[in-house]
Amino acid sequence: MASLRCLITGGAGFVGSHLSERLVREGHDVVVVDNFLTGRRQNIAELIAGPRFLLIEHDVIAPLPESLGARFDRIYLLACPASPPRYQADPVYTTKISFLGTLYGLERAQRDDARLLLASTSEIYGEPEVHPQPESYRGSVSTLGPRACYDEGKRVAETLVSDFRRGRGVDARIARIFNTYGPRMDPEDGRVVSNFLVQALRGEDLTIYGDGTQSRSFCFVTDLVDGLVRLMEHESEAGPVNLGNDEEHSMLSLAELAREAAGTHGVHTKRSSFHPRPIDDPTQRRPDLSLARARLGYA
Ligand code: NAD
Ligand code: UDP
Repeated sequence: MASLRCLITGGAGFVGSHLSERLVREGHDVVVVDNFLTGRRQNIAELIAGPRFLLIEHDVIAPLPESLGARFDRIYLLACPASPPRYQADPVYTTKISFLGTLYGLERAQRDDARLLLASTSEIYGEPEVHPQPESYRGSVSTLGPRACYDEGKRVAETLVSDFRRGRGVDARIARIFNTYGPRMDPEDGRVVSNFLVQALRGEDLTIYGDGTQSRSFCFVTDLVDGLVRLMEHESEAGPVNLGNDEEHSMLSLAELAREAAGTHGVHTKRSSFHPRPIDDPTQRRPDLSLARARLGYA
């Protein structure tokens, strides 16, 4: 493939840094826009030293700066905190990030005639009444609860993408990402995989919210990134497309996996502590990956 000029908002975060790495490795030029709200400089330290990578510190709730330079071929919109404690810390800001960050990204894509991909989320399915969740399911989201700033922010972001696609000719695509884990997850960000692993490695009690029977489906980050690139580079598929892993775990079984993993490092911890389930915490979640498999050859 020819070398492309790519913009990644949120490229200093967990997923964004892996995506940046992959694109640079494939010979593309990558410009990352990030304000380090939840991302870390160390995630991209090696990339910054290289010639194909540029970091611009900028908050995406403001229009993208002219210093981004020449036109982009590809724009990936990932800027947004993804961990519930982080996105709930300043919920009004979270909604602004999704709405304004997506709007300004789309405007730039229109100006540049660039292809754009929005990192949407399985959270738009809310507390799902359909299981597993296909893309045709419209979801069951509370507009009022503490997760709504994130869920509804992503839903309006999907609406913006659809309207720029329909009305303004922007080749924009939507990936609905399910829970992802892997290296560079912020150990302090409060998500379950990082919590359990850090607790297990420290020999602490594993903090289970509720009775631990609720479920999620966890995808390794480089597999997810592969799906994102496949969707971006597909000739015609615009999505929304679910991306993730359809192997489903209860939080109790995930806790056991974390204990086993820590055991291989010589740390043995048996105990769990039980805490109240967060409000509106979805009971079950698993992607229907039929579309990703059939259209993108994703596995
Ligand atoms: P993350 O918090 O590690 O990364 C988000 C990045 O965006 C960080 O580098 C952060 O500093 C940056 N950012 C946040 N607000 C910004 C702002 N106003 N201006 C500029 N930069 C800003 O999260 P992640 O897990 O890497 O998630 C990346 C994207 O994927 C997010 O859009 C998230 O909603 C989506 N997603 C992630 C998951 C997951 O399991 N990781 C699941 C579904 C969707
Ligand atoms: N969870 C848990 N213990 C923790 C952190 C989270 O039992 O220390 C649960 C949480 O209640 C949810 C699941 O793990 O049911 C996934 O939570 P996470 O915040 O990782 O992702 P999300 O809820 O956004 O899918």
